[in-house]
Amino acid sequence: MKSCKYGTNRVIEPKNVLPQAASKINPSLPIYDNELLIEVDVLNIDSASFTQIKKACHGDEQQMKEMIKSIIEEKGKMQNPVTGSGGMLIGTIIEKGKNHPDKDLKVGDKIATLVSLSLTPLILESIHKIHLDKDQVEVTAKAILFESGIYAVLPTDLNQRLALAALDVAGAPAQTNKLVKDGDDVLIIGAAGKSGLLCAYQARQNTKTGRVIGLVNEQAQVDLLKSLDLCDDILLADATNAIDVYKQVQDVLPNLADVVINVVNVENTEMASILSAKNTGTVYFFSMATSFTKAALGAEGVGSDVTMLIGNGYTKDHADFTLNILRTDQRIRNLYEEKYI
Ligand code: NAP
Repeated sequence: MKSCKYGTNRVIEPKNVLPQAASKINPSLPIYDNELLIEVDVLNIDSASFTQIKKACHGDEQQMKEMIKSIIEEKGKMQNPVTGSGGMLIGTIIEKGKNHPDKDLKVGDKIATLVSLSLTPLILESIHKIHLDKDQVEVTAKAILFESGIYAVLPTDLNQRLALAALDVAGAPAQTNKLVKDGDDVLIIGAAGKSGLLCAYQARQNTKTGRVIGLVNEQAQVDLLKSLDLCDDILLADATNAIDVYKQVQDVLPNLADVVINVVNVENTEMASILSAKNTGTVYFFSMATSFTKAALGAEGVGSDVTMLIGNGYTKDHADFTLNILRTDQRIRNLYEEKYI
């Protein structure tokens, strides 16, 4: 039997919503004719969600396992109830519905899902290990991908964990490529993080005559960014302190930034981003900890005409685009390998 391509027939409650907005979905087997069944190896929990869970469990791995298990049992998917966000996974296709539209995809192919875990039906058997510094969870689990669910067959020239880490944030550098043009001054808030580094790399490629400013919150991250030589200036500041960020940005960019890219994993950084952008500028909120209300009312409150973009995690060809950065830039690849393998 064929299901709705968006998986709406798996929604349990509330009725008439899509799986991402549902509080509970049905991950039961068998799969429908247009779905894929995946044997999951690793869940990559998105950074805002992982950070929230880690904090709530005081970094205790056992407590985190319990929390993750109970979320999946309750919701039928790994969607953090506080942040609303998910992540993605890697695994092997073990069954392909006979009406699935991709004729090239085969049982046995290793894939990374490129739709959020916040809408992916998941049956968890056990959690083997949580990698506290990588936001990754090794599991025995099965996941279902709807007909509309996008994925990437994992490349054979890159380590799978490396690809997983990069694909998790693939939308960020690919969107940076669309937003930044030569001459733009760019500020990246959270520039030493997983997506921040890729965005800094891409901004540097796109704006040869403009400036790329990285903002980080630790001296070690300043040193890291310096060693990579991706930024013209590096600011050390707490992005939740809007006034300090504004002053520091003004010191290096008196006319403020044309493009601000927010890639932090904590709340309350909307105003630092808005105040740092020119009136005619753009703020790209990739962070899942962004509040629409705080951004919209905050911009209005300071009379800023800035254009604000919600960080769509998808843009055409974003997976290849991002993996190619790792293939092209050995410095970033080394760093990713050190951190995520
Ligand atoms: P990450 O590697 O954890 O990077 C976040 C960076 O922000 C870290 O370097 C962190 O520093 C820094 N940071 C935290 N608090 C800060 C503060 N107060 N001031 C300045 N910097 C601060 O995260 P990521 O994987 O790149 O993800 C970044 C964001 O994108 C997250 O919110 C994640 O949920 C979101 N995301 C969005 C999508 C989408 O589709 N839009 C997809 C994937 C991820 P410390 O390490 O010192 O805390």
